[in-house]
Amino acid sequence: ATPVSIMVGSGRAAQMGVLFRTGAALEGLGEAKVVAVDKTGTVTRGQPEVTDVIASDGSPLAEEELLRLAAAAESSSEHPLARAIERAAERPQGSGPKLQATSFEAIPGYGIRATVKGHTVEVGAARFMTRLGLPLGELGARADELAAKARTPVFVAVNGALAGLLGVADPVREGSVQAIQTLKAQGLEVAMITGDAQATAQAVAAETGVSRVLAEVLPEGKSDAVSGLQQGGRAVAFVGDGINDAPALAKADVGVAIGTGTDVAVETADVILMSGDLRGVPNAIALSRATLRNIK
Ligand code: ADP
Ligand code: MG
Repeated sequence: ATPVSIMVGSGRAAQMGVLFRTGAALEGLGEAKVVAVDKTGTVTRGQPEVTDVIASDGSPLAEEELLRLAAAAESSSEHPLARAIERAAERPQGSGPKLQATSFEAIPGYGIRATVKGHTVEVGAARFMTRLGLPLGELGARADELAAKARTPVFVAVNGALAGLLGVADPVREGSVQAIQTLKAQGLEVAMITGDAQATAQAVAAETGVSRVLAEVLPEGKSDAVSGLQQGGRAVAFVGDGINDAPALAKADVGVAIGTGTDVAVETADVILMSGDLRGVPNAIALSRATLRNIK
């Protein structure tokens, strides 16, 4: 690589809001055959909102109570879903004094457990309820309906009984559809890696044109998912924004972080997209390829 072409390439990239950490990253990105993207906060905005509150048929709790208990239980969680649930409980319809949680435990990739007013409240994915030995019953079908609309189903159990279900929507970022279309036109395979439910991930993939979905991946499984995509010696670029994404960013041939993401992600990445716009990825790839052509 000539220092001049690298410098010119890096300068053009900076004008587009793409920061290449090293010359190797600028050269490497153009060689990628697969772009793997994280879902929440990368393809989607990462600002989820509660859209549905459903109390189970047999539950003594009203919908408002359900939301209030879930919000109190989530108050110590750092997960974006927790913030959405807390905000929803602050809305006017979530009336009554704020509840406090006394104990809190996060089960990464599954959900959380907390004590609220002496009740054990467990909030999380379907697989969390399954792990707790709670059959989903009729709420399972309601969750499937939510997931088909690209919403994340969040189950709430109180004192070891399923009490209800929340639906959380996280809209696709402006630019994601076009970015994915362009990447495919550039000859790349676009895969999405997420901890979210299979059906929710499939719905987001259908909406955006992602061709391969790796869903319900546990936090420590994201880097293995990248290894899987690297089979056959294909170079993989991984694009992510979150704490859970750092190992995948490190494992990928080129790690690309959303500049508005967590510090850990930004520090681990080889390339940083200063704006949250995913279109920076195909732009950066085009630039990297042009730089490689100048070198060869
Ligand atoms: P992702 O950010 O890709 O969704 P995570 O591993 O953080 O991946 O979470 C996987 C799933 O576990 C979430 O989609 C959600 O269903 C559940 N989960 C994790 N943390 C929480 C939480 N604090 N509250 C509710 N559900 C949670
Ligand atoms: Mg994320």
